[in-house]
Amino acid sequence: MATLWQHCHVASMVGGSYSIIENAAIITRAGLIEWIGPRAELAPQAGLETVDLAGAWVTPGLIDCHTHAVFGGNRSGEFEQRLQGVSYAEIAAQGGGIASTVRATRAASEEQLLASARQRLEALMRDGVTTVEIKSGYGLDLVNERKMLRVARRLGDALPLTVRSTCLAAHALPPEYAGRADDYIQHICDELLPALAGEGLVDAVDAFCEHLAFSPAQVERVFIKARELGLPVKLHAEQLSSLHGSSLAARYQALSADHLEFMTEDDAIAMAAAGTVAVLLPGAFYFLRETQLPPMDALRRHGVKTALASDLNPGTSPGLSLRLMLNMGCTLFRMTPEEALAGVTTHAATALGLGSTHGTLEAGKVADFVAWQIERPADLAYWLGGDLPKRVVRGGVQSTF
Ligand SMILES: [Zn+2]
Repeated sequence: MATLWQHCHVASMVGGSYSIIENAAIITRAGLIEWIGPRAELAPQAGLETVDLAGAWVTPGLIDCHTHAVFGGNRSGEFEQRLQGVSYAEIAAQGGGIASTVRATRAASEEQLLASARQRLEALMRDGVTTVEIKSGYGLDLVNERKMLRVARRLGDALPLTVRSTCLAAHALPPEYAGRADDYIQHICDELLPALAGEGLVDAVDAFCEHLAFSPAQVERVFIKARELGLPVKLHAEQLSSLHGSSLAARYQALSADHLEFMTEDDAIAMAAAGTVAVLLPGAFYFLRETQLPPMDALRRHGVKTALASDLNPGTSPGLSLRLMLNMGCTLFRMTPEEALAGVTTHAATALGLGSTHGTLEAGKVADFVAWQIERPADLAYWLGGDLPKRVVRGGVQSTF
């Protein structure tokens, strides 16, 4: 079944710029874009279902390439306590912080995690998201990391959404390994990762490289194992300090290095050479009231592909709107609306290893797109959230989101 979508303008995002096609038409067939271009250049077509998009601007479906959308509990109580003057140390002493999310996630059933994550993903989807990455990392043992990754897979089956799952077992030290970080890394490499990879639950491997998490040497052991298993890697790096995790990620041809507020120019050079995408997370920057800005000028100067994501997580970025992140990328990080849109389409696709199939509107790619009733593409980064009128098409089929 083929469909002709017409009476629209397209921001195809090819090459990381708007790459506008005015007065465009799109033909979709069997889930893919068969033809896209100026309507006037389209030869007469017979037997197509035709959809009038009423002058909409069509963009690729949005891609949220960094989330921790599966977790138990939430931390709004801690948020309130902090604003009532309780210190982080006191909250941590009460068992708060990431430890509380780990406890709640371990205690939750697969069905409970599925139901709560589904609500969060539906919020993202109402914003035009058609592809999302979900990390594990609150289970921190084989049984519970498996549970989280199974939920990620089931969400991809249950929703009109492409889900990529990332194993982030090296997110934090589980309480049973207190003071034995090297032993936990050994457990990840010897048992946890091979088992979960063998079960087909892992699309990529991530780690948290920071003084309060894991050292570059420990991260590298995880990367070596991932390489042995044939899995691509990603890294949380340079969020709170500079350990050159992003350069380490580049040495392992990582799909992405994420956060990056404290990265250096040399890190940017290494990432550009490796094709490692910089994923910026303005929601966490905002929520933590950080002041160190990621080096946008260095990223631009060296041609590092730069993505934006929600970092949806209960501790540092309870972000349910990717479009709000577009605005924050512009207001906080001084990205242009065009860079921001590229950051949630073509560069986000590359950060997930989906660059050849997703993220731009071109013949042969998956027909995931959003037809927005807006004045111009910059509207997507301009409005602070809200529900912009649109229709979302996934695999050539209009979605109810
Ligand atoms: Zn994260």
